[in-house]
Amino acid sequence: MIHFLTAISEIFRLKRKCQKCGKDQLVKANQKHDTVPCKFCSASIPPSLKSRY
Ligand SMILES: [Zn+2]
Repeated sequence: MIHFLTAISEIFRLKRKCQKCGKDQLVKANQKHDTVPCKFCSASIPPSLKSRY
């Protein structure tokens, strides 16, 4: 169960919402601290400032 919750929190952490088009998407684990391009509109999406590690 702990592994399940860890997996869920990891997915949640990697989920990012585009400020331009408003669509949610997942970023790769190795890009979670990087600005990534939105796969829908190509806008840059910075890493979430709300994330706490
Ligand atoms: Zn977008």
